[in-house]
Amino acid sequence: MASRPKQLPRLTYPFRVLGMGLAALPIGVVLHDLQAGWPAWTWLALTCGLWPHLAFLLARHSADPYAAESRNFLIDSVFAGSWVPMMHFNLLPTAVLVTVVTADKVNSGIPGLWLRALPAMLLATLVVGMATGFEVDLTSRTAVILACLPIMAIHTLAVSANIYRLMRRVQAQNKQLEEMNRRDGLTGVDSRSHWEDQARRLLQRHHGVGTPASLLLLDIDHFKSINDRHGHGVGDDVLRALAQRMRDALPADGIRGRLGGDEFVVALALPPEQALVHAEHLRAAVQSLEFPDQPGLEISISVGLAAPPPGGNLRAWLEAADAALYRAKHGGRNRTEQLQTRAPRVTP
Ligand code: GH3
Ligand code: MG
Repeated sequence: MASRPKQLPRLTYPFRVLGMGLAALPIGVVLHDLQAGWPAWTWLALTCGLWPHLAFLLARHSADPYAAESRNFLIDSVFAGSWVPMMHFNLLPTAVLVTVVTADKVNSGIPGLWLRALPAMLLATLVVGMATGFEVDLTSRTAVILACLPIMAIHTLAVSANIYRLMRRVQAQNKQLEEMNRRDGLTGVDSRSHWEDQARRLLQRHHGVGTPASLLLLDIDHFKSINDRHGHGVGDDVLRALAQRMRDALPADGIRGRLGGDEFVVALALPPEQALVHAEHLRAAVQSLEFPDQPGLEISISVGLAAPPPGGNLRAWLEAADAALYRAKHGGRNRTEQLQTRAPRVTP
């Protein structure tokens, strides 16, 4: 709850109404047994009836709802502490009250609050105890025990249900975060780290069971001048359009990622001869891209194609594709170059 400070009063309100309302039951039975006078009953009405609503209003209208709610939590403890001597330390309701208010502090998620609340509660017990004469009667008769059951059961279940709801929300947010980490925010293709994980798995299958594998490393030609002439926003549109073409023009099981800037990479479970056909198809598809709002804007890509170097890791594979891309750039751009990797020569 602490991570959403502004909502803390609204989240706490129903629990305070429920907790204080249910606590009034055993306190009321003990007061009845002790034949308490009107000041005690008035205190009960104020602390258990009025206070939860007043606390909510105070926090809602405070400039700092989080700090106000933290204060309210401490006041809860003061009230609970005041009831202990007024109930003559009746054992079960005392234990239930102290446990419930302390658990509420822990569940609030406010760091260290439960610990800060303990001296406040103790002080209230001492002050009210001195004022009322520290009378002690620990025995809880059956009616008091029965009156304790609703707060023990209902409050515990309500708090558990709330924790369950929060856990589900955290799980959903974690899933969302994971998804965000896996995708490149601008283009929607795999982020570099997620792409590397998947490409490594394909490489393992290649080295392990001989699955064919090819890498396409592609880079937009003269992208800097596209940014310079048409603006960074149009540059972003170009990156997005290229990613879309990568989705449309390449096999669905291709592993597409953005390495950074205008450099993209695709790992295909295909031998280089077939990957070359797809690379050329993609290159033609990119060249046919049109941007109606940007007359004269033409896009081309250079592609480096490489099979995994024998026994090599992902880094070596990327370096091989990079060498092929370098050749494509220096060969005049807008072309695909392939790096021939040969198996190490075995001398008889
Ligand atoms: P070459 O043909 O040799 O690849 O030339 P180039 O101009 O494309 O050179 P290079 O690939 O080094 O240029 C990359 C440029 O991409 C530089 C940088 O300003 C731009 N860039 C990197 N990330 C982004 C981005 O997210 N959006 C946009 N619009 N531009 C980006
Ligand atoms: Mg470039």
